[in-house]
Amino acid sequence: MINNLNAADLPRPAPRSSNPEIMASEIIERLTYRIGKDVKVAKPHDWLTATILVVRDRIIDKWMESTRKAYANNSKRVYYLSLEFLIGRLMRDAISNIGLMHEIRDALSSLGVDLDVIAGLEPDAALGNGGLGRLAACFMESMATVDIPAYGYGIRYVHGLFRQQMADGWQVELPETWLAHGNPWEFERRESSYEIGFGGSVETIGGYEDPQRFVWKPAERVIAMAYDTPVVGWRGTRVNTLRLWSAQPIDPILLAAFNAGDHIGALRESNKAESLTRVLYPADATPAGQELRLRQEFFFSSASLQDILRRHLQQYPDFTSLPEKVSIQLNDTHPAISIAEMMRLLCDVHGLEFDEAWKITQGTFSYTNHTLLPEALESWPVPLLERLLPRHMQIVYAINANTLLFARKEKKMADQQIRSISLIDEGGERRVRMGNLAFIGSHSINGVSALHTELMKETVFADLHGLYPDRINNKTNGITPRRWLMQCNPGLTSLLRETIGDDFLDDAEKLTALDRFADDAAFREKFAEVKRLNKVRLANTVAQRMGIRVDPSAMFDIQIKRIHEYKRQLLNLVETVALYDQIRSHPELDWVPRVKFFAGKAAPSYHNAKLIIKLANDIARVINNDPAVRGLLKVVFVPNYNVSLAEIMVPAADLSEQISTAGMEASGTGNMKFALNGALTIGTLDGANVEMRDHVGEDNIVIFGMTADEVARARAEGHNPRAIIEGSSELSQALSSIASGVFSPDDRSRFAGLIDGIYNSDWFMVAADFDAYAGAQREVDAIWSNPDSWYAKTVRNTARMAGSRPTGRSANMPPRSGEPDEKTAQFGRRKKDWRHHEG
Ligand SMILES: *Cc1c(COP(=O)(O)O)cnc(C)c1O
Repeated sequence: MINNLNAADLPRPAPRSSNPEIMASEIIERLTYRIGKDVKVAKPHDWLTATILVVRDRIIDKWMESTRKAYANNSKRVYYLSLEFLIGRLMRDAISNIGLMHEIRDALSSLGVDLDVIAGLEPDAALGNGGLGRLAACFMESMATVDIPAYGYGIRYVHGLFRQQMADGWQVELPETWLAHGNPWEFERRESSYEIGFGGSVETIGGYEDPQRFVWKPAERVIAMAYDTPVVGWRGTRVNTLRLWSAQPIDPILLAAFNAGDHIGALRESNKAESLTRVLYPADATPAGQELRLRQEFFFSSASLQDILRRHLQQYPDFTSLPEKVSIQLNDTHPAISIAEMMRLLCDVHGLEFDEAWKITQGTFSYTNHTLLPEALESWPVPLLERLLPRHMQIVYAINANTLLFARKEKKMADQQIRSISLIDEGGERRVRMGNLAFIGSHSINGVSALHTELMKETVFADLHGLYPDRINNKTNGITPRRWLMQCNPGLTSLLRETIGDDFLDDAEKLTALDRFADDAAFREKFAEVKRLNKVRLANTVAQRMGIRVDPSAMFDIQIKRIHEYKRQLLNLVETVALYDQIRSHPELDWVPRVKFFAGKAAPSYHNAKLIIKLANDIARVINNDPAVRGLLKVVFVPNYNVSLAEIMVPAADLSEQISTAGMEASGTGNMKFALNGALTIGTLDGANVEMRDHVGEDNIVIFGMTADEVARARAEGHNPRAIIEGSSELSQALSSIASGVFSPDDRSRFAGLIDGIYNSDWFMVAADFDAYAGAQREVDAIWSNPDSWYAKTVRNTARMAGSRPTGRSANMPPRSGEPDEKTAQFGRRKKDWRHHEG
């Protein structure tokens, strides 16, 4: 476009002002000329869109500058491939990060508009299920903050995670329509479109004297079109891009069919293509196993890689520099097919030799493992992969042959080890193991907490770890303190600023300066007052949405996360029933008033998880209507858990429930959000809880229950839940009242099966951990009864969550070995920011 013109000579856009009056007039301008609404008839949603457009302008300058800077400096780029981004609302995050909160608020109020009201109308973008997707969103913000040039790649689902409604205490799933009012944050990039193939056959060219070449002839093709959303870091340091792909038909309409009168058939291609990116799969810990899911995985992997390679060639002559200039991070195995697709693109499209392409591929990819649950490890039937991606299947076989040869010849591995490292699972129906593919194709593989990393080495990847002992390393998950402290908890943020100054805003480790205020009675009082106001806010939300009244002076005991048996909401509920029984039996005792909050979605096909939601609601109805415990115990299941609800509930928690069966929660990030916001944690030695204990100190966290080793041993040797239950009268009474229908008089056997599971196998150690848990809860009561002690501990949680490395190592942590050097660290040079480092 500017062929003969020098860009520097062209007129430049006027700099965007941060003056509230000017911004107010810009908001009016957007309302009038972009949305086409008169001020008099503008709806709150129109004000929201106009405001976002004005905020967006202030980000775009930085965005372009960030892109130019990465080119000019030949910076290494990070590409974060994730099938999920649980981003939530963006406006408040963006305004706060560019430092215009007061100015925008003033601009809007001069127009008679309340920022908080319109911010509450912004749809909560739930393009993810839970922790894995939220981690991706936190990383995007953190990478922009620490000035790493990064791109997030994912899918622009039309329908994100379902909206959860309650019908008589049962979960009902409704479609989420986050794009209903349009999405002013995104930019459609028609020029960034790629063809994605499926099916068909592979042709071989040459092969006798010439090197053999392969050409994939797909039977079906769709277009991947990019939608870009700017991700702005703290103080607007850098603006990165979240690029989400949408599927489009190659032929939007089959005109011949249309003209022949087949109006529905004419749209066949269009519907088929668009269905590819229409919905997010709503299961968080079990692979969907359906063909559409594999199509989604390949679709976004291929589009992202084509985009990455194109960008690289714009700047460099060939791909030899790819590992040095590009780092591709696989968020779990969902994008693992990228390994084979990279090989195909390098060999078949760009003409590289297999061995050279393999070196480049391995040097470029890293992989984050998120779970050890055997049923959660992704694998695809060989016949399905062969039919849908025939060339990739060939490449998988070739990679496998090389790896197994190396293992047998060089490493002298035995048959059993060979079987476990193979990309093909031969037990039963032959399947391709995506975890093994991601491992073998990457130079760095990380676990997400210290404990999980060690368990990875001992379990799923034991033999691959033996083959490549330098690859596995630990990067404990983290959260962004911008969203999870500064924005969700403005009251605490103000108090911290007036107490320890502003340093912590730019360097969270500076929060340790708060530590000495734990012993300052006047400060503790202010800290408690902030907590009280946050609890009032939650109480009002619950009153408004559910018509339930709760007392903000009671202890707010909160368990919010996906509903899963391993997360053990059931343990919490059984203890709730036991407590209910105790209060009624001993009304003369001084019980600590508690409100037990639950929130979380269940995968629609996960029967027991849905039953647990119903149980929570059934228990709530009985307890909340019993005058015998009035004022002492309430149970609230808040519907439709999402990022926005977390932002209200986390700051209001006194007690954070992190009680997974030890060895099963890879890291957890909810645990970190609560502790940072001044809650006491009751938890098991699982995931990042272990490192949190090291950070905050064992006096400032309540740990109970079996360790991961003890759980493994009990499972291997068999434990006897029946004997345990008979030995605990509180437990047996609580279980039999649930099983016999005390809470479900309309269907007395509703929960019999759920409770039978505890009696018969107790896989999740609900019975085995019950007494320890109930004991720990009474310990929590005792601490609560001494407010000085309670707030001293919770202040220390806020103060110590961000510290870099605690002194001293915990007794049950393995020695630190095989630590990656800076070079292999996931995000290159900088490791600062909000990360828990291994203890
Ligand atoms: C943080 C977060 C999660 C993860 O919570 P865990 O307790 O670590 O499982 C899930 N969903 C939402 C909405 C979150 O904000």
